Amino acid sequence: MIKVVTILGARPQFIKAGSVSREFGAHENIQEVIIHTGQHYDANMSDIFFDEMKIPKPDYFLGIGGNSHGAMTGQMIEKIEAVLLTEQPDWVLVYGDTNSTLAGAIAASKLHIKVAHIEAGLRSFNMNMPEEVNRILTDRISSILFCPTQTAINNLQSEGVDKWQTQVSLSGDVMQDGAIFYKELAEKPIDLEINGEFVLSTIHRAENTDSTTRLTAIVESLNVIAESTPIVLPLHPRTKAKLEALPIKLSPAVKVIAPVGYLNMVWLIDNCKLVMTDSGGLQKEAFFFAKPCITLRDETEWVELIDHNFNILVGADKKAIIAAYNEHVFSSDFNVDLYGNGLASSNIINALIKYEK
Ligand code: UDP
Repeated sequence: MIKVVTILGARPQFIKAGSVSREFGAHENIQEVIIHTGQHYDANMSDIFFDEMKIPKPDYFLGIGGNSHGAMTGQMIEKIEAVLLTEQPDWVLVYGDTNSTLAGAIAASKLHIKVAHIEAGLRSFNMNMPEEVNRILTDRISSILFCPTQTAINNLQSEGVDKWQTQVSLSGDVMQDGAIFYKELAEKPIDLEINGEFVLSTIHRAENTDSTTRLTAIVESLNVIAESTPIVLPLHPRTKAKLEALPIKLSPAVKVIAPVGYLNMVWLIDNCKLVMTDSGGLQKEAFFFAKPCITLRDETEWVELIDHNFNILVGADKKAIIAAYNEHVFSSDFNVDLYGNGLASSNIINALIKYEK
């Protein structure tokens, strides 16, 4: 029996766990224990994903959220360590690049428990992003790195992974697994009045929400684009608070809705005309559902989308955003395998079983 403690805390991790935990459930010789750190705790940022995606209810809820990075990460390390001492797992599994990811990896590695990192090797090369710091540190102390792409492996190799005594595995992307599985279950958001074409947008990254200049430019751009095509904007709680404090307001043609669950989100992605976002995951999902994507950031970890012209980086520059929407000709041949064939979760679990033998 292999015992795995999975650390979850933020929305994108719940979505990834939707695929990986389902696969764990299919293996009798693996026991998964889930710790939810509480980083995202609102019902529509957390519970809905566990319910809809049938993720097993967390065995431990740590209730740590809404604090500074240092305080949050420190409290998480302490509380995760206590659980690991009780559970004594073979592995700690962490996803992506949040404070919960880093805290889980630190707590485990100090107890000499092996760490498996899903979505390893991604780099934005922007050390001002908290996510970049979390990724680099987590990769360095993991025992096995599950990379979604060859680019991620190349990044690790240029950092010297060959000397780290760490296994590197090209697993494919677990979000691709989820997109395939949940497409059949997609549901239109019940309260959304929309007929015909629309643009889907999300904004939540600190680099945009915490800069009045950037957030203002994004709001102005959305207002201009919404004059020709309605925009649906499921609003992250952090962005909601920042927008309320901004002198400029979103126009009524931008349909602001509360954050939605994954089944609604998949419907929105599958039915929109184009995606405009600063989300990491949504850039890939746009590709999975054959939609062009305008990325409201200065760099991206998902460089293959840019290289193939499925995605364009525009930062928070009003002119560039509007020009990308009106003028950019995106590639329309989405028949390219960039993220694996939807078997990433089973690749990951097979690699963990093989490692133990
Ligand atoms: N998402 C969702 N509901 C929403 C907004 C986003 O289910 O209202 C999903 C989205 O489809 C993607 C994930 O949340 O799978 C992305 O999370 P987020 O943008 O918060 O984080 P990032 O991917 O940037 O780390």
